[in-house]
Amino acid sequence: MEKTLVLIKPDGVKKGLGKKIVKYYQNAGLKMIKRKEIDPTPQLLKQHYFAHVAKPFYPDLEKFMLSSHIVVMIFEGSDAVAIARKVTGATDPAKAEKGTIRRDLGDLSLPDDDRIMMNLVHASATKEEAEREIKLWFG
Ligand code: ATP
Ligand code: MG
Repeated sequence: MEKTLVLIKPDGVKKGLGKKIVKYYQNAGLKMIKRKEIDPTPQLLKQHYFAHVAKPFYPDLEKFMLSSHIVVMIFEGSDAVAIARKVTGATDPAKAEKGTIRRDLGDLSLPDDDRIMMNLVHASATKEEAEREIKLWFG
């Protein structure tokens, strides 16, 4: 059984999409084994997004991520990492496939940069990333 980390970003929280989002992962066969609401700190976010901290969009991303609480969850299942990524959809909701969270529930009317930033959820991209992120948020 594999575990992966999913995080509902502030846009998903503010729009009340939590339950709908969880259903997408459950319908894909994954089981939610942990869930908590958390007010992240800038320090935690820099650790979570260490690969992006030096990028030009990071200050806006951090500000956005601090704009409400977030929901962090662990989903479990066979091939959980790949399945959760597939259900999440591409980073840009406009380019994500239909049937994915980002495409179905994302705000396609936003300007490019905002739409890419406010894409509702985060899901670990690899098994290693999942292990690191589970330790970071639930350690
Ligand atoms: P995530 O890691 O959140 O699941 P991802 O793996 O699809 O998303 P990454 O390349 O890891 O995408 O980017 C992390 C997050 O940073 C994106 O989900 C998005 O919120 C934000 N982001 C990425 N690129 C941009 C950009 N060009 N402008 C604004 N925000 C961006
Ligand atoms: Mg990523």
